[in-house]
Amino acid sequence: MDAKDLIRNRDDVLAAIAKAAEEAGREPGDVTLTAVSKTFDAETIRPLLEGGHRVFGENRVQESLEKWPGLRESFPDLELRLIGPLQSNKAGDAVALFDVIETVDRPKIAKALAKEMEAQGRKLPVFIQVNTGEEPQKAGVAPSETEDFFRVCRDEHGLDVRGLMAIPPADAVPAPHFALLKRLADRLGLPEVSMGMSGDYEAAVSLGATRVRVGSGIFGARG
Ligand SMILES: *Cc1c(COP(=O)(O)O)cnc(C)c1O
Repeated sequence: MDAKDLIRNRDDVLAAIAKAAEEAGREPGDVTLTAVSKTFDAETIRPLLEGGHRVFGENRVQESLEKWPGLRESFPDLELRLIGPLQSNKAGDAVALFDVIETVDRPKIAKALAKEMEAQGRKLPVFIQVNTGEEPQKAGVAPSETEDFFRVCRDEHGLDVRGLMAIPPADAVPAPHFALLKRLADRLGLPEVSMGMSGDYEAAVSLGATRVRVGSGIFGARG
């Protein structure tokens, strides 16, 4: 994919977000597009930065360490969001590299992140990942445990929890999952909801997403 196509795809997604927001009586500016660049190398990503895009998501710490420090040198104002599972032995690297961690989902990780943020003097906003479909193989806290876990993160570990994030089951109609995540966030008074990917981000915007995460819809199919 060349630079022109990337920018055009990004603009098409932004236009679709704006349309879905307006139809839902929301402000288009209340929804931010995270461009999910996992598996694509720095040279593929760079034209999107040159075209003005600043918010990116990655799902692996190691892969991100290999490509983002160089890009950040050229674009210090970019925002890098971790949207994949985090192991506690990578918490230090994650805190050093990312600007937001969207996948806090168990006490051990909450504790490891708090400790690293303290040690590095770098307090990052975080999201709690919710396993809305209660799938055994998927990361995230169960919906019924979200409130307790939120209190542990905020009160025990002092984390700056800004919102909730979810990935609905691949084979399910996503709307009920989006509605559930939005309800949980509202109940906890959390302003941010990260939901919606290439196939369903318009539905997510209709149901209250403030962050959509679009990969293949911008970069094309992953190899
Ligand atoms: C890969 C990924 C996305 C983007 O998926 P696409 O279908 O390519 O848009 C969004 N969220 C998470 C957590 C991902 O891992």
